[in-house]
Amino acid sequence: MGNSNIVINCNQCEFCDEFAGGRANSFAVRYANEIASRTILEQDGFRAMPSIGQIVPGYLLLVPNYHYRAFADMSLEELNAAEGLKTGLTEQMRSTYGDCLFFEHGARTPDSGGCGISHAHLHIVPFPAEKDPVEELVRAFPVEEVSNLLDLKRIQPGKSYLYYESVRGERYVFYPPFIPSQYIRRLLAEALGIQTWDWRRCGREDRLLNTLSQTSRLRDVVWR
Ligand SMILES: [Zn+2]
Ligand SMILES: [Zn+2]
Repeated sequence: MGNSNIVINCNQCEFCDEFAGGRANSFAVRYANEIASRTILEQDGFRAMPSIGQIVPGYLLLVPNYHYRAFADMSLEELNAAEGLKTGLTEQMRSTYGDCLFFEHGARTPDSGGCGISHAHLHIVPFPAEKDPVEELVRAFPVEEVSNLLDLKRIQPGKSYLYYESVRGERYVFYPPFIPSQYIRRLLAEALGIQTWDWRRCGREDRLLNTLSQTSRLRDVVWR
């Protein structure tokens, strides 16, 4: 296990800059000439958008507008809204992309890894159940079973965690001593036999634009 220090500076938050329409973020660098925003829907203080580094088509992020470091730092009300949005979104996505798994790097301390973004985000990843690497995680790390996102409030304040919900709907909170950058993305890519897991090395992707146009129709369905 490495012990590289990831310096988190909220003044340089990728997502806050992107949501404010800035240019100093990974989205703008790749797509500003083509599209103004990658937000599919915005509701209850959250937005859903396709992830840079579309390991699979339909790979989304659910992101709070407010700069929380982790979902566990949100209020129960916000977590309840997130849970509802997540359920609504994936129900509608199922016919196009199949079942999904979910994960969040609850990186609440600078040295706890994640994917290099300090702004909370839940990964929503369409994935074949038989390739879900969940058992590998259960073997590797201390684990606690939870029933929904609201249970994240039970985690000790300030403690880092990894939330993972398998394709079959088992929901876990893991406590890895250290999570290397993009650990889960790499694990998922490996399970699918894909080499390109590092989103930072992805340029402009047709797949992201396809996901954006395919899921944009969900706007009308999920929005209530
Ligand atoms: Zn932010
Ligand atoms: Zn992440």
